[in-house]
Amino acid sequence: MNVIVTDLSVDLETAYFEPKMLNRPINWPTFGAIGLIHVGALIAPFYFSWQGLVCLITLYCYTGCLGITFCYHRMLTHRGFKLHTVAKWFAHLAGALALQGRPLDWAMSHRIHHARSDQEGDPHSPLDGNWWSHFLWLVPRRKRQTHGLLIAKYTPDLLQDRCCIFFNRTYIFWNILLGAALLGFGGLSCFLWGFCLRTAMVWHMTWLINSATHIWGYRNYTTSDQSRNLWWVALVTFGEGWHNNHHAQPTAAYHGHRWWELDATGWVISICKILRIATKVKSPKLVASKSQAQSV
Ligand SMILES: [Zn+2]
Ligand SMILES: [Zn+2]
Repeated sequence: MNVIVTDLSVDLETAYFEPKMLNRPINWPTFGAIGLIHVGALIAPFYFSWQGLVCLITLYCYTGCLGITFCYHRMLTHRGFKLHTVAKWFAHLAGALALQGRPLDWAMSHRIHHARSDQEGDPHSPLDGNWWSHFLWLVPRRKRQTHGLLIAKYTPDLLQDRCCIFFNRTYIFWNILLGAALLGFGGLSCFLWGFCLRTAMVWHMTWLINSATHIWGYRNYTTSDQSRNLWWVALVTFGEGWHNNHHAQPTAAYHGHRWWELDATGWVISICKILRIATKVKSPKLVASKSQAQSV
């Protein structure tokens, strides 16, 4: 999958995400942030407190489930459901606080992942190396001009979304505010557990989707990619580990397609639907019947 950047026949996606880090300079701010958060996470056990543990659990669920799987992934990127305005802003804040990038960048790279799964141009295929797919793909510095073209190509709907644009612009601010609040009000223990260790845990839970669930597990559906369903990843990722189900029906809001495939994010969506906070929820069955109808 190695390509020459100057080759004009290479498309935008391939030019942006390949060749790999050996051919590109390092994105030092990102690399430094990943390193510092992990140093803080390794120090955290030496500064244990019950308050710190509560911060970690609360923020793991808020940023991991509500922020990444519920908001960034199933709502923003795949349009699996619509959310009431106040809840939408609350969920976007959770997504920003996961420190996984601006919403437009997250949605753009993930939509490309679905468009190019395990093919040339996929941002993070394990076929390019397990560690590459886990996190090394985040490290190279990439061209801003190509980035702008890809944002325009893959996220035109989100560019019209006021809430998404607001958090895209203020993304860094919210993370500085949270870090300062944890340090100022809770002390070093709350900062290390609630910010550093929690962020590292949510990072790895998300990264396991890009790596492990394209390597190990079983398949319910025959798809053109290597996606798999992996129960232990599903448990720590609020249901995102049923990744083969997701690749088969990307816009479905629910990822557990068998009764025992537990999907915590799906439960949150169901509760929001009952409370009428979430509307136009796309169920797997509904998506299947729609695609069948289109193919007729
Ligand atoms: Zn995938
Ligand atoms: Zn997806």
